[in-house]
Amino acid sequence: MLPRYLTRFDPDYIRGVARQIPYQRLQGGLFPGIEVWMRRDDLLDPLVSGNKAYKLLYNIQRMREMGLDTIVTCGGAWSNHIHATAAAGRRFGFKTVGIIRGHKPETPSAMLRDAERLGMELYFVSRDQYRQRHSVEFLPRVGLDGRNACFVPEGGANLEGFMGLRLLGEVIAETAPVEFDQAWLACGTGLSLAGIQAGLGGTPVIGLPVLKAGSSIFEQAGRWLDRSGCRRRLQPLREGYHFGGYARMKPQLRQFMQDFESGEGIPLDPVYTAKLACGLQSELLLGKVPSGSKVLLLHSGGLQGRRGYSG
Ligand SMILES: *Cc1c(COP(=O)(O)O)cnc(C)c1O
Repeated sequence: MLPRYLTRFDPDYIRGVARQIPYQRLQGGLFPGIEVWMRRDDLLDPLVSGNKAYKLLYNIQRMREMGLDTIVTCGGAWSNHIHATAAAGRRFGFKTVGIIRGHKPETPSAMLRDAERLGMELYFVSRDQYRQRHSVEFLPRVGLDGRNACFVPEGGANLEGFMGLRLLGEVIAETAPVEFDQAWLACGTGLSLAGIQAGLGGTPVIGLPVLKAGSSIFEQAGRWLDRSGCRRRLQPLREGYHFGGYARMKPQLRQFMQDFESGEGIPLDPVYTAKLACGLQSELLLGKVPSGSKVLLLHSGGLQGRRGYSG
């Protein structure tokens, strides 16, 4: 049975929970001629959600090993990574600091309100300052000394993050209910794509970028694979399904999301997983997925982000 909330946060425990995550066969008729299953990592935990939980896993382990008590990280006003970090800090007993891109909004997003309620200390920085987030000077410029803190980059994209997604890939290889021809995943930084491909071995993982930066995502993901010593090559990305850019919504996407949710009873988020499933359907209708294929769609969580799209 699936625990409703993660109660520990170490690799053995998370591996055990990940092995119990269900795979659901899609039956709603949206993907004619192929067999589609969805792995529900949105069910891992309602707050420390989806791929962000896996990214945090080894970061938190490193923080503990180094005797640090704080995680400092950064992101935008709707970041799933900020949300997951704040929730993990609250539950597992460490301090969290979030550096947020852009000036403090008059009405904070639901995500920012959650983060504050969960005890995260928020710093708002201008977009110019935020652009320096990859520089060693970033924390001092924001006014943080960073002592006793572990800095995790935007989106959880570091080697520790990669290791957590590789663990997920290994678990999928062990637990997949059928032999899949392809696994499909929504990409932001591409780190999850690289990590899951490294862990999953022979099954090709197909990444679908949700923003207009396909080639840099592909290069980044390739670099993560190389750096980890993994010799696997990445599949080409399926581009053209960003619907206008990161976090942009279009009527076609909204309609698809409704059809998917009413047909399958599985909630999607508009930023990542709705684009993923809609992109798979489009590629299928274009004849770019061989008929009879067994396809695994990875639900990477992020449902908190739905709250930014009411109406
Ligand atoms: C962050 C996120 C992704 C993208 O992960 P990357 O490793 O940055 O490519 C996909 N899906 C959801 C729900 C996310 O929150």
